[in-house]
Amino acid sequence: MSDPLSSATGIADAVRAGDVSAAETVAIALGRVEDGGAGLNAFLEVFAEQAIDQARAVDTRIAGGDADRMPLAGVPIAVKDNIALAWGRTTAGSRYLEHYRSPFTATAAQRLVDAGAVVVGKTNMDEFGMGSSGEHSAFGPTRHPLDPERAPGGSSSGSAAAVGAGMVPLALGSDTGGSIRQPAALCGCVGLKPTYGRVSRYGLVAYASSLDQIGPLASSVRDAAACLAVMSGEDARDMTSSAHPVVDLIGGLETPVEKLRVGVPKLHGGMHSDVSRAMTDAALALKTAGAEIVDVEMPFVDEAVSAYYIVAPAEASSNLARYDGVRYGHRADVGLGGSIEEMYVRSRSEGFGPEVKRRVMLGAHVLSAGYQDAFYLTALKTRRLIRAGFDAAFDPAGPGVHAILTPVTPGPAFRLGEKTGDPMAMYLEDVFTVTANLAGLPAISLPVGWSKTDAQGREAKLPIGAQLIGRPFDEATLVRVARMLEMQVGWGG
Ligand code: GLN
Repeated sequence: MSDPLSSATGIADAVRAGDVSAAETVAIALGRVEDGGAGLNAFLEVFAEQAIDQARAVDTRIAGGDADRMPLAGVPIAVKDNIALAWGRTTAGSRYLEHYRSPFTATAAQRLVDAGAVVVGKTNMDEFGMGSSGEHSAFGPTRHPLDPERAPGGSSSGSAAAVGAGMVPLALGSDTGGSIRQPAALCGCVGLKPTYGRVSRYGLVAYASSLDQIGPLASSVRDAAACLAVMSGEDARDMTSSAHPVVDLIGGLETPVEKLRVGVPKLHGGMHSDVSRAMTDAALALKTAGAEIVDVEMPFVDEAVSAYYIVAPAEASSNLARYDGVRYGHRADVGLGGSIEEMYVRSRSEGFGPEVKRRVMLGAHVLSAGYQDAFYLTALKTRRLIRAGFDAAFDPAGPGVHAILTPVTPGPAFRLGEKTGDPMAMYLEDVFTVTANLAGLPAISLPVGWSKTDAQGREAKLPIGAQLIGRPFDEATLVRVARMLEMQVGWGG
């Protein structure tokens, strides 16, 4: 390994074999976080001493013969700050939770720690996961690792920047409408959103509970798959976690999928020419690797963003009702004469940022009497039709595709401030990602090329990602297809 942090699975193999220690490896990551972290604003909190102690404990476990139980031994990881740890703070990027300390650790994070991973810090994010640029954090925007004037995408902005900058080889994000895949694509990383229910949401600060999933951002398909394999599986603490058997995602990773059929929808307009060129190249690369390319429909691609921006705010308005100044986080000081109503209103007014307020109002509106049928129920119908459309494409009696290839984003990384004044422009960033969440399907984004120009036509060499959407609970096939594409385009280890 030339770069000691380039591969999570590479680190784990070396640590388990005793070639390097977890403590040294974690110290390298901490050094990089210290050097590069501040400029990018990728981290909200760094666990310097604690991480070294935890790494030493991993080394002790290895010495004690526990290596087989630690597929991620000594891997320094970063965790999005809406995923609870029983140490440090869990702010979800919100002023409201600025000082909040969770009494427990999220199941997904605990499983990684049990597997030998060491959390070096918590990453910056759009407040409560609401945003596509990282600019809606209460703690300042995250910057793009390749161009500090640009946004890394969001909402898992810090996780993408940290992996993209090589500070850590692996990070956790959460994806409600693209928040793993979109920043991963903009920063040149791999991002994997599992099937809904594949990974426990216990300990994830709820945004839209029927859409939220935790997943990895990594520098290769293999590392993302290794991380998902560890996190997957039923959890008694999350009733929506699935009992679907957890399969080995690594063993057959490089076995090409036989008679592979990849659906490629015709998408009219709405994307940068460098993105459409990269998609044509990606389809060709898969064909060269032996895939049959099949025409499919991307079901209701035009309606999906509208449906998403009804369903997600509706659920958010309900989920965020718990922030009342009593149970968690910020409480406004209304003095002795203040009423309880005043305390509720002022706590929320002071604690929530403008985008969160917009979502809560939007959500309350689409659920209100007289509007529910027109908005919320119509969005739910659209959601069902989207899933039916995917099921039809996957149906062996029909096109029978194993995966569907689409762009991740309409364009490469945009500049800070470019979309903050126009919420619709920001929402349209999610046009290709939200369908997988609405349908509950697994989807992976991986880097496949570079832009020549940005959206304004200025010269800009920035990563471009491709998305593969897979069959429900068939992440094993999805990562194999992604690995075929990754090998073909020559990106990743
Ligand atoms: N950008 C989308 C939103 O703001 C998706 C965010 C996410 O996946 N958490 O809702």
